Amino acid sequence: MQGRGQAAKSPRCWRSVQRLRQFKSDRPFWAGALCAFVAAILVAGIAVAFVFGVPQRAAVSVGDWFADCYWQIRFRFMDPLEILQSKRGLTMEGALAVAQKLDKYSDQLEDIAPRLAMTQPAVLQLEVEVVPYFNYEGITGPICTRVYSGGALYCSCGVEKYPPVDIMKFRGRDNFHVLGRSFCTMPANYVFFNIRFANPFSPWYESTMVISTLVHELLHANGICYVYDPLLEPTTETATLEVLAAMGISGNDYTFLPFVHKVQDFAIDYAWAKAMSEDRMPEFERAIERMFDTEFSRANWARTKATWQGREGELKRILNLYGKVPYILTVEALQNPSGYTRPVPIPATFNRIRMDDTRYFLGHLPELVGAFITEMAEKEPPVQ
Ligand SMILES: [Zn+2]
Repeated sequence: MQGRGQAAKSPRCWRSVQRLRQFKSDRPFWAGALCAFVAAILVAGIAVAFVFGVPQRAAVSVGDWFADCYWQIRFRFMDPLEILQSKRGLTMEGALAVAQKLDKYSDQLEDIAPRLAMTQPAVLQLEVEVVPYFNYEGITGPICTRVYSGGALYCSCGVEKYPPVDIMKFRGRDNFHVLGRSFCTMPANYVFFNIRFANPFSPWYESTMVISTLVHELLHANGICYVYDPLLEPTTETATLEVLAAMGISGNDYTFLPFVHKVQDFAIDYAWAKAMSEDRMPEFERAIERMFDTEFSRANWARTKATWQGREGELKRILNLYGKVPYILTVEALQNPSGYTRPVPIPATFNRIRMDDTRYFLGHLPELVGAFITEMAEKEPPVQ
C-alpha cells in the first residue's frame, strides 16, 4: 500500500519539477540563463500583445464582467424605487424609465398637494423651517471659517443664516427660466425669487418649484457658495433634493411633491443631455411626448424646444449644472452603501452629502404616496 501511495504522490510532472530543482542546484548559470530566456519570451509576447491591443480588450471585457457582478450584488441590497434597475442607472433609457415611474406618482399628487402662495409671511415661515435642516444634513455646523483660495472666496460658513428674501424681476429670456438668485459672497447675503412665483397672472404662481428654489438659494446663502467650482450648482441641487426628502419624510406636506418633481426633473435633464451628446434626440422626444399626457404639457414642451433652438450650448450648460450632474451625484450616492456622494464643495471643508433620506423616500415611495393621499383626504382644506 505504501509503495502505491508513494507512486501516486509522484506523478510525472512532479518528477520533472524535482529534476528542474536538481538542475538549478547543479548548474546555477544555465538555470539562470533558462529563466532569463523564458522571461524574455514572456516580455516579447506581452509587447506583441500590447501592439495588437489584445490585453486592453481582454482587460476591458474582464473588467466589465467583474464590474457588472459587483454592481449586481450591491444592487441586491439597495433598491430605492428600482431606480438603478437599468445598467448602473446611468443610461438614457434608465433615466427615462425613472422619470416615467415618477410621473405616475406626480400625476396622483398634483391635484392634492398643498400649494404655497408667495406672500412675505409665508416666505419667512418657510425659511425658518428650512434652514435648520441644513445643520441636520451636515451642511452647516458649529464651526465658522473664512477661506480664500487662489483668489477665490469661500463664504463664511458653518453658522445658520436667515438672509432677507425678496422678489426680483428677471429680464428677457431669463424671466422664463431663472427661478431665483442669491448673493452669497456679499455681506448682505440676499436671496431672491423670480417675481413670477408671486404673481397670480403667472403659471408659476403657487408652483411647487418655489419650495425647491427657496431651498436652493438658502443653501447658497448658507455656504455652498464657492464661486469657481464646477460642482457648485450640482452640489446645491443635490443637497436641495436631500433636504426636500428629509422634510418630506418628517411630515412636511409642502415638500412632498417638490421632492418627486426634483428627482423627475433630474432624470429628464440627464436623459436630455445624454440624448444630445449621443445624437438620439428623436428617440428622447418620443419618450417625452408619451410621458407628457396632457395637451398643455405637450404644448409647453413644444414651446420649450423652440425656446432653445439655436442655443444648444447654453442649454447643455444648464442641463449639466441643474440636472445631469446632480443626477449622477445622486445615483452614485444611492449606489454607495454608506449613502454618501463623492466629495463636493460644501462649507468649511470639501465634504460629502449623505443621501440617506433620499434613499429612504425613493425606497418607500409607493407606501409614502399612499399615506400622503390618505392624510390629505383627512385634512381640512387650507384656508386661503
Ligand atoms: Zn444656484
